[in-house]
Amino acid sequence: MGIKTTNILVVDSSEVSRTIISRILLTEMDYTCITTCSSGEEALRALENDRFDLITTSLMLPDMDGLELTRSVRESAHHHYTPIVVVSGDADGRLLREGFNAGVTDYFDKSLGYQSFVSFIKSFTRRNSGLVGRILYVEDSRTAAMVTRHIMEKHGLNVIHTTTAEAALDFLEQTRRGGPKEDEGVDIVVTDFFLKGQLTGGDLLHAIRARLHYSQQEMPVLVVTVADNEEKQAEVFHAGANDFVTKPIIEEILIARIHSLLLIKQQFYALKRQAEEMKHIASTDSLTGTRSKRYLLDHGETFLKNKKNSPVWAYLIDIDHFKKINDTLGHITGDHVLAALGDLLIKSFGENCILVRFGGEEFAVLIPQCSAREAKARSEVLRRKVEELRPVNVDITISIGMASTMDIPNTNLNDLLQAADKALYAAKKRGRNRICIHSGLGVEHSILPHPNTPIQSKPKSVANQ
Ligand code: GH3
Ligand code: MG
Ligand code: MG
Ligand code: MG
Repeated sequence: MGIKTTNILVVDSSEVSRTIISRILLTEMDYTCITTCSSGEEALRALENDRFDLITTSLMLPDMDGLELTRSVRESAHHHYTPIVVVSGDADGRLLREGFNAGVTDYFDKSLGYQSFVSFIKSFTRRNSGLVGRILYVEDSRTAAMVTRHIMEKHGLNVIHTTTAEAALDFLEQTRRGGPKEDEGVDIVVTDFFLKGQLTGGDLLHAIRARLHYSQQEMPVLVVTVADNEEKQAEVFHAGANDFVTKPIIEEILIARIHSLLLIKQQFYALKRQAEEMKHIASTDSLTGTRSKRYLLDHGETFLKNKKNSPVWAYLIDIDHFKKINDTLGHITGDHVLAALGDLLIKSFGENCILVRFGGEEFAVLIPQCSAREAKARSEVLRRKVEELRPVNVDITISIGMASTMDIPNTNLNDLLQAADKALYAAKKRGRNRICIHSGLGVEHSILPHPNTPIQSKPKSVANQ
């Protein structure tokens, strides 16, 4: 589950309004997804297919008015409690009363302009924001569950109810494993302490923390206890609950507690996302778009050891006479060349390979499950593609050194790369624009280029001069 995006449905018959509203909402609000509709019918269809956190509608629509739409939305299966804001230029008293009866949550006076509309929506979602979330609610009494579930849903929460801790655990285990779909997981758990099954709410709590290894930030848990048992309440905290509420449940208190736990969960998502972004930046080379050497060092060894990848081929790819390009055409041109080669390499080696910028004008690739025949063919195809690439009108060639775990069994990353580097060195020595293989015995085989492509310097080539 990523960070929660706010899904907003904008219903307006005017195309201009729709465009302006969605454009400013998108630029001014983070994590927002906007769907626009031009009529009531279209809106009802969209509401059937998607879940929205907020609906805005103009009063006049071609096929119905905003209040009729509101009534239909309130009768629909999934949007009973979704806030609906009517955007209108002439909301008189009668209309206001009728609107609230129909289920309108709020009005916005159109004459105030689009900018204040965005401020209005912003503060509206901020007030409601903590409450977009999915709750796993465990309560064995069906009557109690019905009442409490109703309260939560009325406040826009999405509730999954189970009557036993066992069923709740099943659900959590499945989603923990990435089971059905990430989006089908829950944000927080609300559980009754006393349950009729084998497991109590306390056992469930213990399993969430100790067996599923969910921290209090990753899976906040709110426990429902009886009022006059302070010992139990202390015990609940020891067991890893974030908070508790006492029975009989008071709506405002329950919602306030849930709200604060959902905020904890949102902060957790935000931190996780930030950490992922940082990791991505650290493991990507910004000039060429390939991974950084760091990535190879972090993941290469595991990649080699993974039996599923066997046999692995390593290529070391180095641009020939690259220094000359810098010296004659400048460093910036050199950078363009590197970026273009990076693009070609990314296209040539898919997600299953590890492709990194190994050093200045040198790249390393690890290819999984690759036969010698395929490895040779792929390197030759690459060598030719680079000949034809002519990035920023510069002729370039590459030399490739190859080695495989087939020829050097039980090898580690360092030794495999060293073998490929020896082969690369041989390729350079033998005249560049060619491919050499380290056989494992220290013997280097050169694959001669196809007879139809004789290796020769092109007159205007900078790199080959
Ligand atoms: P060889 O065929 O033997 O590989 O010759 P070469 O000139 O390619 O090799 P050498 O190692 O002598 O030079 C590599 C050059 O790559 C030197 C360095 O300035 C340049 N280089 C390294 N990183 C970058 C970069 O990010 N941008 C540019 N423009 N040049 C770079
Ligand atoms: Mg070099
Ligand atoms: Mg070079
Ligand atoms: Mg080099």
